[in-house]
Amino acid sequence: MRIDIMTLFPEMCERVLDESIIGRARRNGIISVECHNIRDYTADKHRHVDDMPYGGGQGMLMKPEPIEACFKAIASQCATRPFLIYMSPKGRVFDQSIARELLSRENICLLCGHYEGIDQRVIDSMVDMELSVGDYVLTGGELPALIVTDAVCRMVPGVLAENACFEEESHYAGLLEHPQYTRPPEWNGLPVPEELLSGHHEKIAVWKRRKALEQTAKYRPDLLEKAALTPDEIIFLKENKLI
Ligand code: SAM
Repeated sequence: MRIDIMTLFPEMCERVLDESIIGRARRNGIISVECHNIRDYTADKHRHVDDMPYGGGQGMLMKPEPIEACFKAIASQCATRPFLIYMSPKGRVFDQSIARELLSRENICLLCGHYEGIDQRVIDSMVDMELSVGDYVLTGGELPALIVTDAVCRMVPGVLAENACFEEESHYAGLLEHPQYTRPPEWNGLPVPEELLSGHHEKIAVWKRRKALEQTAKYRPDLLEKAALTPDEIIFLKENKLI
C-alpha cells in the first residue's frame, strides 16, 4: 500500500511517521508513506501557495495550481491514479469502516489544507472523498492525515505482529474491546478477573465477548444497534438490563 501526503508542513508529518510501529513498517518496506511539500510545486518567484478569497472574508485560501501540479507529480509515480482525499471538517466523519474501505486501495493521496482551506474548484474537479476527523476545526489537515494514515497502515498485513492485534480491538468488529489486565495478578487490592487466570480458552473467550458487550452497552450503546449479535448475546444483554 502506498500513501502520499500533500502538505505545506512535510517535516511535521515526517516526525510522526518516523516513529514507532509505522516508522518501522516504512523502514522495512511493508508500507510506503511519502510526504510532499506543495510549496515545491509553485511557479512564482515568491513560492506563493495562498491568496485572498474572492468576495472577501477572513484569512487566505490555498491556490489550486500548486495542488494540481503536486498531485500530477505523485500520480505520475503510481501505476493507478491515487484516490484523492481532502482532509476537511466538512467531510464524512472518519471511522474504522472507512479505514477498512481505504485499506483495499492501492494508492491513497491525502491533501492537507491550511489557512481557510482550499479553492473549491480543486474539490469539485479533483477530490474523490472529503474526510473529517470530527466536528471541530484544526489549524491544518496534517494531524487528520496522520490519523488516517496510522489507522489504515496498522491494518496492512505485517505491520502489526498478528492480524488478531487489530481484529480484536475496539470498532473492528463493531464492538468496543473487553477490558485488559497485565501482571501483577493483584494490585492495590484489585484482582485480575479469575476467568483470565483460569487458562481455560473457551471460558476466557466467553468472558471477553461478554465484557465487550458490557463495555459497548456502557460507553457506546449506539454501536450495539448495528453490531452482528447472536440470539444468545441479545438474551445476555436483556437479562443484564444492558439494552
Ligand atoms: N474554513 C474551513 C471551514 O470552516 O470549514 C476550515 C479550515 S481549517 C482552519 C484549515 C484546514 O485544516 C482545512 O483545510 C482542513 O484540511 C484541516 N482541518 C481542520 N479541521 C479538520 C477536521 N475536523 N477534519 C479534517 N481536516 C480538518
